[in-house]
Amino acid sequence: MTPRVLMPLYVGFTGYASQVLADMLKIVDGDGGLGTSSTGDPGLLQVTYKATTLTPTRQYFDRVVNGTPNDSVVVYGLDNTALIPTSSGQVAITSLAGVTYPPQSSTINIFYDVTGCGGSDYYVVDLGGIKVDFEPWICLFHELSHGYHYATGTISNNPELQAEQDENVARADYGCTVRNQYNHIGGCGAAPTTCLPPSYRTKGKGSCLIVTAALGSAEEPRVRRLREMRDSLVEKSTLGAMFFESFEAEYYRFSPLVAAAMRLSPALHGVLKAALVSPVLDVIQLLESHVQQESSNTGWAALVQKTADQHRAELLKAGLGPEADSIVLEKLRALRTNALQSPHARGLPPAPWGSASIDVGSGVDYFLACLCAVREPRDHIAWAICEPLEIWLSALVALAAAEDTVDSIAEQLARRITAWLVHAPTFSLLGKASQVAVAGELRALGETFLTASATRQSISEGLVAEYGNHVDYDLAELLRSAEFLGKKTEPTSHDDRY
Ligand SMILES: [Zn+2]
Repeated sequence: MTPRVLMPLYVGFTGYASQVLADMLKIVDGDGGLGTSSTGDPGLLQVTYKATTLTPTRQYFDRVVNGTPNDSVVVYGLDNTALIPTSSGQVAITSLAGVTYPPQSSTINIFYDVTGCGGSDYYVVDLGGIKVDFEPWICLFHELSHGYHYATGTISNNPELQAEQDENVARADYGCTVRNQYNHIGGCGAAPTTCLPPSYRTKGKGSCLIVTAALGSAEEPRVRRLREMRDSLVEKSTLGAMFFESFEAEYYRFSPLVAAAMRLSPALHGVLKAALVSPVLDVIQLLESHVQQESSNTGWAALVQKTADQHRAELLKAGLGPEADSIVLEKLRALRTNALQSPHARGLPPAPWGSASIDVGSGVDYFLACLCAVREPRDHIAWAICEPLEIWLSALVALAAAEDTVDSIAEQLARRITAWLVHAPTFSLLGKASQVAVAGELRALGETFLTASATRQSISEGLVAEYGNHVDYDLAELLRSAEFLGKKTEPTSHDDRY
């Protein structure tokens, strides 16, 4: 039985509750005012909403959450294989995308396909008959409109027109093409354009959803630092801008799921923050220091040790031991050999919420499953998140096991960071750009990002070895003139930390 309270929007706990919440988060354009609370019924999670700033779409969502006191609306996320009952018998959910049933005992049930037709997307049509995107979050918004009108007794005798008019409010609000509200055709198949709320669009404008969810605020210093680093690279360097465009297109396909699951489960939040997000932030910080500061061997080793100590303290605070690092490392290595190459996995395992505590293995499994559920390509995510995390975790494990001296582990870490940078997907574009463009890029990178001469030197050596034979000019000479490579042809190590 659905409890009768004054804020009656619920998410039904199927395996897809985190997708439903992720879609709700899209509806409110990432607004931090969206929340959840438990109901005493393990099958239902209550949705709460207090808009931070109002837009037409947020206002609409606010009415659904807070303005239907007499009926409860319960949303169930299903996958594309589900069958749903209609007046003419069971039908495949893919023939409808979503459905809202009239109230029964004051409960209105909504079912919709969170997978977007198993990844092939749904379309509807615009005024010119051209296909426009019907993303799962728009589908949910459409169904919530039906739900709202049922709950308030305002359902019209043309409910599709009514819901599509409401849907167009959100489309117009978020700058998407509006649909033809008099033409209800639609089906599976991608539209030429995608409709996403503004903060989910790429091109260097999105916020770091997972890091924000982990640390609690987009204004937290480490989140801000990350954003600043991205913004300066995007602004100064064409290669940097190209990199972030591709990276964010991949990132924003899976990060809303993880961010939503972390909101759903404090236990998952705790595990992912300490065992995964924090080490990623650590390695980015180490990377920054490696490429930007001329430090001595001992300075670098001390920084590595200090970062490792802080990490261990953070694990401890989350109730985890140093073995968490080996567990995550093992999962990442397994992923590299298997799943990242696998085709788009459909659906997700149930998020490990509900329990008071979650072990590191299941928490990380969930994160990686979200990662693998997005369509390929995923190579920018693999390079920018998985690889540096793996490099840092290897160093942490080596430090914990005292496999070698701190100096030697730190030196190995520096060498692996350099090798990792040389393999940036962006540098593979070197062969495709003109000599003049590459020279300009190197200068921009040298001024904004790769400011430490020792690192520039070692990266240059890597670049020459990797790409020197694939370009029709003298790459070493170019790197020398951009002051990346020292004047001597043999590797120098005067002020080098290696
Ligand atoms: Zn409808």
